[in-house]
Amino acid sequence: MRRKYFIALDLGGTSIKAAVFSEKLSILEKMSMPTPACAGKKAVIGALVCAAKKLASRLGLALKDISAAGIGVPGPVDFDRQVVHFLPNIPGWKDVPLSSVFTAACGIPCVVDNDAKMMALAEYTLGAAKGSRNAVCLTLGTGVGAGLIIEGKLYRGADNAAGEIGHLPLNENGPACPCGGKACLERYAGNGALLKEARAALGASITLEKASALAAGGNRKALCFWRAVSTHIGIALAGLSNVLNPDVIVVGGGVSSAGRPLFDGIKENLSKRAMPVQGRRVKVMKAALGNDAGLIGAALAAAGRIRI
Ligand SMILES: [Zn+2]
Repeated sequence: MRRKYFIALDLGGTSIKAAVFSEKLSILEKMSMPTPACAGKKAVIGALVCAAKKLASRLGLALKDISAAGIGVPGPVDFDRQVVHFLPNIPGWKDVPLSSVFTAACGIPCVVDNDAKMMALAEYTLGAAKGSRNAVCLTLGTGVGAGLIIEGKLYRGADNAAGEIGHLPLNENGPACPCGGKACLERYAGNGALLKEARAALGASITLEKASALAAGGNRKALCFWRAVSTHIGIALAGLSNVLNPDVIVVGGGVSSAGRPLFDGIKENLSKRAMPVQGRRVKVMKAALGNDAGLIGAALAAAGRIRI
């Protein structure tokens, strides 16, 4: 019987990650390349196709040996029509039928979805949310997004746009957000805002990694910084817990490596602010699949849509 292989592509604002997965969904080969974000839509699609071809040839596979590909993209996707609405951090994308364009270019059947949804699919199937029926999988990065699992299913919403927790308003007034709103969570907990706050508190040369290391070493200013961050995130998650009553909230993305100073604060705010029933129920966990979560989710999505 012919073996099945899947290609997973994780399109980010700065890099494209790609991997070939076996039938049992283990990674056989992996690579990363810069996203030619400013070179236009065609160049970005070309880079995705090129990554798929390179990986296949490294394993001595022909493109027809690949059963399907999954692509995670950093923006809203009309999942039913397989159209990328737009990508906030990659210019020139408007209503792109990425799935059919990719398949036309390399002959591999393809499924496209929002990257936070791909990560949620991975954490729910194989990671920290495995075994739960109702989960919120939060990703903290340049953007703040979430995948919502409700009664064992990924919740998409009327326009496939559900899960935009980064654009949950925390106050009536506050910093303006590119989404058109004000005081959105992302304006307080996205990497851009965090770096600005960290610089003000800890000096101009600080990075978020350094701020994590300082907090781990007991630096009081760094601990204060993470406490303020965790308060914003905890308040948003308390509200979301009251509405959705999840078993588990999984926190992933680069910022989650801040560890205890962040997680302790989130848990404290949740228990203080969520309603008793919801607050007692919900567990907060670090994402289990780390940096590969997006790729694993894309491979899982691909495995659901294979070449027959
Ligand atoms: Zn917003």
